[in-house]
Amino acid sequence: MKQYVYLLSCEHSGSTLLSFVLGAHPLISTVGEIAGYTHYSNYKCSCGFTFYECPFWQQVLKEMSREGFSFDLSDFGINISPYLYGKPYFYRLYHHVFYNQQLEFLKNRFFEIFFPSFYRDLILRVKKNFILANVISQIQKKPIFFDSTKDHFRLKLLKQISSVPVKVIHLVRDGKAVVGSMIKREGYSPHKAINTWIKKNETIERLKKNYFSESDWFFLRYEDLCNNTSLILSDLSNFLGVDSSFNLSSFDKSKFHVIGNTMRLSFDGTIRKPSVPSLETEVENLFVLNKRAMSLYRKYGYV
Ligand SMILES: [Zn+2]
Repeated sequence: MKQYVYLLSCEHSGSTLLSFVLGAHPLISTVGEIAGYTHYSNYKCSCGFTFYECPFWQQVLKEMSREGFSFDLSDFGINISPYLYGKPYFYRLYHHVFYNQQLEFLKNRFFEIFFPSFYRDLILRVKKNFILANVISQIQKKPIFFDSTKDHFRLKLLKQISSVPVKVIHLVRDGKAVVGSMIKREGYSPHKAINTWIKKNETIERLKKNYFSESDWFFLRYEDLCNNTSLILSDLSNFLGVDSSFNLSSFDKSKFHVIGNTMRLSFDGTIRKPSVPSLETEVENLFVLNKRAMSLYRKYGYV
């Protein structure tokens, strides 16, 4: 693996689509959200096989044990969720990204010095994540690994331990469309949906400010990817240092082993124009009256 490319975005922003698009490049390896899911026995890989029957994942299993890792397909052992350690509030402080760079640095040092076993365990899990990505990249014979896991905290730790350059794609979708989708598909209240979109994107902005340079960061609007696909793919190619040979015209799903939402099973290689978001009037009003939501909405060019 020569480069680790990490996706940051709010949920329901088109990450599974982007995984398929990038994975259609001869030099980009991906399994979508490498750390996003627990894999039940009937969980279907995007290739059509169940997770346990998929020959690709069986090969991953074999290669990981060759690397010296006990590896289980039902749980990769790379989960760093706030609930893992039974101290979610304590952990959330670590998970939080401060705007102030010095405060952020002090917080990181505080956890590293005063909670060394906790910190070591996190780093071990992220190292295993890195080795897994390397194994997948080798099996797929593609040197760039794309991870659409989306968790900003994992990215921060990955950047710390990675022996290859880490680049970021920040994927944004029209906030109203994301809010509508979270209400419809996740049953979120309008408040929760709006706050989720705001908090995730604000956190991503702070992470960028404190940890990344402009040259390692690509801002991508989902709508631009769908409406101006060739232009965006050309820009993305330049960013990743590859040519623009994304092979979507002869899309062969059996070659993809993507973990992610149900779109992994329905995607047929066609990038469809996004629909114009329509929210119920009271949800629309809540969104428009929210200063933080509208500030991001303007920043991302949606008004
Ligand atoms: Zn598969």
